[in-house]
Amino acid sequence: MSRSFFRTLIATSLAACTVGLTLAQEINIYSARHYPTDEALYADFTKATGIRINRVDADDAGILARLRAEGAASPADVILLVDASRLWRAEESGLFQPIRSATLENAIPEHLRAKPNANGASAWFGLSTRARLIVYNKSMFQKKELANYEDLANPRFKGQLCTRSGAHPYNLSLFGAMAEHLGEAKAEQWLQGLVKNMARPPKGGDTDQIKAVASGECGVAISNSYYLARLMRSANPADKAVMDKVGVVFPNQASWGTHMNIAGGAVARHSKNSAHAIRFLEYLASPTAQNHFANGNNEWPAAKGMRFDNAALQAMSDGSFKSELLPISAVGKNQVKVQQMLDRVGYK
Ligand code: FE
Repeated sequence: MSRSFFRTLIATSLAACTVGLTLAQEINIYSARHYPTDEALYADFTKATGIRINRVDADDAGILARLRAEGAASPADVILLVDASRLWRAEESGLFQPIRSATLENAIPEHLRAKPNANGASAWFGLSTRARLIVYNKSMFQKKELANYEDLANPRFKGQLCTRSGAHPYNLSLFGAMAEHLGEAKAEQWLQGLVKNMARPPKGGDTDQIKAVASGECGVAISNSYYLARLMRSANPADKAVMDKVGVVFPNQASWGTHMNIAGGAVARHSKNSAHAIRFLEYLASPTAQNHFANGNNEWPAAKGMRFDNAALQAMSDGSFKSELLPISAVGKNQVKVQQMLDRVGYK
């Protein structure tokens, strides 16, 4: 065999290796996590593994639309979304690749991940949790009047309730959970009661509801836990003043527990690099990353047995609380029914 043949062979192999390395040493993440503190998390992963991260940031709806449009040509490897109903919708649309991972299966409790298929593979895994809480103005009401989500429909709060849009996924998930607990008929009556108690038509995000409670525009509202913890930890005196005025309730401690939502991750259906994508999700379930979710964005770790240190989360819940254990996938599947109920009772 000629020397030039070997030279060509070596050159071709080297080229193949280089291409292989380039392809293998990066992953493309489509992320709806809009939290600047996550940057450090991605940098740590690259430092530990040498795998570079290319990130596309968009909201959940934008990511799902993009995946549908790209189809099999999509370069996405990992998808990060921030709500149970959105994870469920993406799974139903076939946008995820169900995976097996002993690390993820051992770390993440069953109710916080997608129902396994016949091969035991799950389409998505919860990575952090957040509680949907009741917030009230302390000079107007007392904690004991608002022990349960059901109380929000009590006529005593007529003209007092503020919420973001009923169709927002955080509310769709809470209302979907209520439909599981109360049954559909009672859940719809409850939603009707909420509409009757509104102080104003739904608008804004959760932080806007907290501020409206502090100003007295509303007496009660609903908010995710991390928005409250963010205000508690803020260096801005105006934020501290807001938190001085509001009380926080972890509802339904004597019954099914406080409604929990999740942020989670999945491998994209058409990922050409699923081994690295799985490695990244496993990293997000590691103690380092789980602690980061707790400290960076004031979320509770989804992985079992994690120690974390976040004074605001601890103070808000008096150390511990009873959380709802409904399978997140059951909550997600109720969203179509809930949307129809919202239309019927006129919840905008
Ligand atoms: Fe949020």
